[in-house]
Amino acid sequence: MRVAVIGGGIGGCSAALALQRVGCIVDVYEQVPVKGEVGAGIQISPNASRLLNVYGLAQQLEAIAVRPSMTEARRWDDGRILSREQLGPAMERDFGAPYYHVHRADLLNIISGAIPQHCLHMGRRCIGLVQHDDRVEVMFEGGSTVEADVVVGADGIHSAVRRELFGAEQPRFSGNVAYRGVVPVERIADLGIERKSTNWMGPGGHFVHYFVSGGRYLNFVAVVEQAAWQRESWNDRGDVAEAQQYYEGWHPQLHAILRAVDDIYKWALFDRDPLPSWTLGRATLLGDACHPMLPYMAQGAAQAIEDGAVLAACLSSVPDLSVEDALKRYEAIRKPRASEIQALARRNAQTFHLHDGPEQQARDGRMAAHAGGRDVAAVSPARSMIFAYDAMQEQVGPAAGDVTPKRMDLWT
Ligand SMILES: Cc1cc2nc3c(=O)[nH]c(=O)nc-3n(C[C@H](O)[C@H](O)[C@H](O)COP(=O)(O)OP(=O)(O)OC[C@H]3O[C@@H](n4cnc5c(N)ncnc54)[C@H](O)[C@@H]3O)c2cc1C
Repeated sequence: MRVAVIGGGIGGCSAALALQRVGCIVDVYEQVPVKGEVGAGIQISPNASRLLNVYGLAQQLEAIAVRPSMTEARRWDDGRILSREQLGPAMERDFGAPYYHVHRADLLNIISGAIPQHCLHMGRRCIGLVQHDDRVEVMFEGGSTVEADVVVGADGIHSAVRRELFGAEQPRFSGNVAYRGVVPVERIADLGIERKSTNWMGPGGHFVHYFVSGGRYLNFVAVVEQAAWQRESWNDRGDVAEAQQYYEGWHPQLHAILRAVDDIYKWALFDRDPLPSWTLGRATLLGDACHPMLPYMAQGAAQAIEDGAVLAACLSSVPDLSVEDALKRYEAIRKPRASEIQALARRNAQTFHLHDGPEQQARDGRMAAHAGGRDVAAVSPARSMIFAYDAMQEQVGPAAGDVTPKRMDLWT
């Protein structure tokens, strides 16, 4: 089966690896002429790292990743610890795979580097699709075309494939803007920050930091509330002084981190409701193209990686299933889980940004039970369920019977 994957990001490239493992002939078409990623970190939880390990990337990941000891929540002004959740060895013990902090560029290099390079076509921007009974034709800017049995739109938040399949859509500005940057560790050595992930929660914002690139950089994502925003982009340049203003009165450690950064990116967060469907005929969607989510569960890429594994398993059931039925099965398995995590991420925006007052006190009271450091399962059953999931275990073939969309019930 020939599969054309549109988009060579984390989702598209990891899907290509999964599809090749089940015998598909895969080509990835990426719009940018040269591989590149924004300077930012990403958290890879066990539900995703277990798949990357299956794809043979464990050793390379270990070389570029940081294994954080824990994740902690702290109060915005005095730095008081609100809760602590064990990561480190507890992840492998409880979920069978590690929790990693990585630089996005390092991760993409490893995943895309594992695809035979003649299958990765750079500088190919998809502008349209034509579906036939037995194939799909993909059109690219500049006039070239290719044909495939299946097309996978892994082309991110502004997906051209999604627009072709389901029409244009109007995302909503979430009211949140993120400032992101990476700081060389020698510049903040005096702060004595440990190898863990910290989330400072305060009025109208939060500030997350953790180490990446084997510990050579500290990555931060500083989220603030803003009244309006016109365009959605991941890599607009930001201004350090502007970011600092939002954090006036917050803990001095955050200001020290902001002062140490060279380049800061500003990124507006747009929110979308789950799409009614992901699949039409011989084309489907994957990753941010179909389930973009606010980053407050740190699961966007992890869910894209899971999508690829399930998609490959479903397509491996062809010809016992028709291509169309295999793609519908993929959607039925994946959409409920991804949609629930989208909703959980949205809920976290409110929890993280409470102003001091009764609601914040109630939140801190709930968290206080975990201030000493607990396992993920004790702190958050929902996160525990997310981490425990193994996409490779999904029953996808005709013998699985009817796959009806089912809720995962991650709410706690
Ligand atoms: C600040 C921030 C922090 C995050 N933290 C985490 C985290 O800790 N953990 C986590 O799991 N997720 C996290 N996420 C989410 C995660 O980064 C995304 O969900 C993930 O990158 C989605 O991968 P994707 O491949 O679907 O899309 P993308 O990474 O956007 O890749 C899409 C690719 O398609 C290409 N493309 C676009 N249009 C076309 C076209 N017409 N033709 C050809 N190619 C095209 C693009 O150039 C791009 O390379 C975070 C996101 C942000 C912004």
